[in-house]
Amino acid sequence: MARYKGPVCRLCRREGDKLFLKGDRCYTDKCAIERRNYPPGQHGNSRRRKASNYGLQLREKQKARRIYGVMEKQFRGYYRQAARRKGVTGEIMLQMLERRLDNVVFRLGLASSRQEARQMVRHGLFLVNGRKTDIPSYLVEEGDSIEVKQSARSNPRFQEMAELAETRTTPEWLSMDWNTMRGDIVRFPRRDELDISIQESLIVEMYSR
Ligand code: SF4
Repeated sequence: MARYKGPVCRLCRREGDKLFLKGDRCYTDKCAIERRNYPPGQHGNSRRRKASNYGLQLREKQKARRIYGVMEKQFRGYYRQAARRKGVTGEIMLQMLERRLDNVVFRLGLASSRQEARQMVRHGLFLVNGRKTDIPSYLVEEGDSIEVKQSARSNPRFQEMAELAETRTTPEWLSMDWNTMRGDIVRFPRRDELDISIQESLIVEMYSR
């Protein structure tokens, strides 16, 4: 299935939750969820039937996919890899999604949304451990460093993000130095550090049917 290219606020309204897909706008009262918190479409505002168990699982999976901007095949791949590892499958799967380079760039505050981060990565604006890396799905490891390449540091967007950084906090599993525009992966994130409203156990139930 092709990547969704329509209005992203519809996706939030469909899931009935803020997925923070639009960057700065998501933090203002212009957010569509704040104004019209019901599913999009002609019958969006009318009463809906109670969702089945499968319906709930599917919605949770779609929500996660949309937050991280991952296609179905790749998302299932994360589940499969997580299921093969020791530990809680849902948590390992979320940890892998968080370790994606586009997500890390977003978490470091170098982009205002994962979508913007993905575009920046594709444009080759970052070095991972000193090497140009332009694959958004690249999985970072503990101790990796991510820096804005020298020629892109004067880009006004990064200057803007540096100013905004004073109002935002970097997650504890990362560290960011705005003087050198370099971030480090201190460790992998724990589930309780992730500010995403996903019930990953429902996704695991769905895939393990
Ligand atoms: Fe979702 Fe952001 Fe649009 Fe609000 S502004 S509906 S959080 S994408």
